[in-house]
Amino acid sequence: MRIHLSEVLTSPERRCVHELNSLEFFYYHNVKCRVKMEKAPVLELIKTGEDRILIRLSGDAEAVVPCDRCFEDTVVSVSLEDEFEVSLKDEMSKAESGDEPVDAADQMEDLSTSVFISDHELDSDKLLRQELSLKMPEKILCKEDCAGLCPKCGKNLNKGPCDCKEEPVSLQMAGILDLFNNSKEV
Ligand SMILES: [Zn+2]
Ligand SMILES: [Zn+2]
Repeated sequence: MRIHLSEVLTSPERRCVHELNSLEFFYYHNVKCRVKMEKAPVLELIKTGEDRILIRLSGDAEAVVPCDRCFEDTVVSVSLEDEFEVSLKDEMSKAESGDEPVDAADQMEDLSTSVFISDHELDSDKLLRQELSLKMPEKILCKEDCAGLCPKCGKNLNKGPCDCKEEPVSLQMAGILDLFNNSKEV
């Protein structure tokens, strides 16, 4: 869904609200993942200055992403709450003059908004995809104590043990190895 940003600059209420189309999938570490949204996310555009617009996103989503250990589908709840402020004039003058000096904070903001805004048009699918990727937790586990896959046969160990023989290192042996490693370091 594409939304033209300049519409809010001419709106008498200085504010426009859009119900966005729900997103059906996004890419997480190059894996295509399903997304569920019970309610359409809402995008609010608020005129905050002559050519400045506050973009406010709200809504919730559930993303179905693979567990980091066993790769089973794992549902992650994500809040889509976020806001950005953009200046349309900046965008225009940048396009004209090319190399205007900008400070680091502005540059950061530019980088994040340039993904979903181009030519004063906001692409809501791109915005939602970026939001989901940014909000994914560092570790995704189907359950706290996920046992993962057997490194030998690849069986999902949450569903029971496999037939691979474990070769535990005995404590005595581990002690000897420690001594060996310590003496090497000296
Ligand atoms: Zn898991
Ligand atoms: Zn195994």
